[in-house]
Amino acid sequence: MKKIIFFILAANSLFTFAQEVSKERVINIVSTLASDEMKGRKFGTPENDKAAEYIAQEFKKNNLDYCFGDSYLIPFEYKGQKGYNVCGIKKGKSEQSLAYSAHFDHIGTNNKEGDNIYNGADDDASGVSTVIGLADYFKDKKTDFSMVFMAFNAEEIGLVGSKALSENQSLNPVFSNIKALFNFEMLATESQFGKNAVFMTGDEFSDFDELINASAVNGLKVYPDPYQGQHLFYRSDNVNFVKKKIIAHSISTVDMNKASHYHAVNDDINIVDADNLTNIINNFAKTINKLNTKNFQPKYNDKVKYDF
Ligand SMILES: [Zn+2]
Repeated sequence: MKKIIFFILAANSLFTFAQEVSKERVINIVSTLASDEMKGRKFGTPENDKAAEYIAQEFKKNNLDYCFGDSYLIPFEYKGQKGYNVCGIKKGKSEQSLAYSAHFDHIGTNNKEGDNIYNGADDDASGVSTVIGLADYFKDKKTDFSMVFMAFNAEEIGLVGSKALSENQSLNPVFSNIKALFNFEMLATESQFGKNAVFMTGDEFSDFDELINASAVNGLKVYPDPYQGQHLFYRSDNVNFVKKKIIAHSISTVDMNKASHYHAVNDDINIVDADNLTNIINNFAKTINKLNTKNFQPKYNDKVKYDF
């Protein structure tokens, strides 16, 4: 009898763990995107296309639907160069959607001797690993909200990819259903608030953070943006969706006062706190799993600006 009870308990906890995103999985995603072979994933390079195709494959493994047409890869052109954004959907019970995004491009290489590759492990392979991790987590779950998963290109040259995607008329049916967008930007290091903590840009413009914190599991906490003078809310990809009056905030752990790896060649896999990143991904997933169309309807207040 004892043995049977033990077996049931073990099977039970195995089931619980099976839903979680493993640290190995997170490291695998980040180190694939941040590998030297990807040469810094600069917009307009073959390696940038390769990164987009890799993300599309991961979306396919998670059985996501296409946002539009017959591919996850949505082309756009900028200054004569072609590139792709990546977009996938998971249908929920409701048409109302939550969206998760991160940018996958980075700044390429330099001509100096030695390590000349900007791997962009934190910026923003860590954010992409969060988006893919959420797709992994919800693969076999039927949620109330539908879910939109996006990986933006050409952020580093001026938020170009997210602008192109947000203005793509073919995607209006998808975007018109988005109730909130979580833009994940640099989550590889411990925040100034410690582990299992993130900050959110534009916290003063909506009740998004209050609503997330009210449902947060395992001590996960969303803090207000401590770098107010830097106007980060208007400097990241979320802003192209703010223009569409969609609730859209960027979520990050980067300590802007201390980060020496920002746009430096040492932003590679070695600076990634994989335990903390994995914990944050799983805690966001479990928190989001508690959200539904009744308890989560964030709104902007009248302080936000839509054209700037
Ligand atoms: Zn970035």
